[in-house]
Amino acid sequence: MTSKQFLTLIANLKHKFFFSLFFGCRVNAAESNLISQILINAGLKPISETDNNIPSLIVVNTCSITQKGENESLRKIKSLSIIYPKAIIVITGCASISALPKNKNFYFLNNIAKKNLLSQNTLTYSPKIKDRLSKYHRYLLNIQIGCNQFCSYCIVPYKRQQLWSLPIKDAILQTKKAIDLGFTEIIITGVNLEKYTPGLTNLTQSLLQKTSAPLISFGSIPLNCINDDFLKLFKEYKSRITNFLHIPLQSGSDKILKLMNRPYTTQKITKTIENCKLKIENLKLGTDIIVGFPTETETDFQQTYNLCQSIGFTKIHTFRYSPRPGTASSKLLQTVNKKTKKYRSQLIRNLTFQTTPPFHQKQDN
Ligand code: SF4
Repeated sequence: MTSKQFLTLIANLKHKFFFSLFFGCRVNAAESNLISQILINAGLKPISETDNNIPSLIVVNTCSITQKGENESLRKIKSLSIIYPKAIIVITGCASISALPKNKNFYFLNNIAKKNLLSQNTLTYSPKIKDRLSKYHRYLLNIQIGCNQFCSYCIVPYKRQQLWSLPIKDAILQTKKAIDLGFTEIIITGVNLEKYTPGLTNLTQSLLQKTSAPLISFGSIPLNCINDDFLKLFKEYKSRITNFLHIPLQSGSDKILKLMNRPYTTQKITKTIENCKLKIENLKLGTDIIVGFPTETETDFQQTYNLCQSIGFTKIHTFRYSPRPGTASSKLLQTVNKKTKKYRSQLIRNLTFQTTPPFHQKQDN
């Protein structure tokens, strides 16, 4: 369906209760929040999934970053269609819908139509939309969609290749409105912030200079976005900018990074992190690591382990590699067995606990 058909559909609903769910990343969360706001603006009433009222509309924003995530999204849609047989279910996001049974109540809003729907760049959602990531006081400012990096393991460029960046002036307007609505933290988020055309440093500086945002933080920052100009902001605006950076590294082996098509080397990682440690007071770091990528030897893994240990992350999301059909790495033959992946993932996980357990337990992003 097109964005126009979506708006016609909601205008013609007889009963007005709806709920909206998302799977996966902060970009999906931010989009779902904005969709909910559009529905509220159109006169619909948000309810929670556990509410006694019966929804006439459910919007599900799916994820396909891993096969597990995709299966989870599809399972949920099937179960919702059984629990609420009369509800219209609008399915959007990245999951492949071909595995879903035919159902006259299913409507599909693809990522391009969703983007068109959300193209009012200054639309802001209110704190009443309590999604599990923004937790009432945090506003997810989505500034970028799409990726054409084609990391060899990742399905995202096949699902969201079209790039979009929120103009800085609209980001400022949205932030000001969010602050007026009572949000106290602005979380800058995007599919790949390295592809944000006005530049992450320019945007962050503008938000710090031109709004009264009490705290600016970041969902996940690509290593290549961190340069001297970006780090200067942490000195200049110390009390208004986070000291937690989540930098997805994926591996500490140059051989594996190259096979993954990640746009940096371990030398660049070390240099950048050292610079962050020098320039950011009380710095806390998080990362994502994939273990068991095809051809990952014991030596490759040890390099990743050593790198993580020497950096001292307070939070590591560890993923056991699973091939996504159609991606370049799914064609690599030297795979790592399940048992080894499990063992390596446990070793990396343990590193986080060794570093600072209280912080790890407290964080919820
Ligand atoms: S940067 Fe790589 S991992 Fe991230 S969305 Fe793009 S292709 Fe996927």
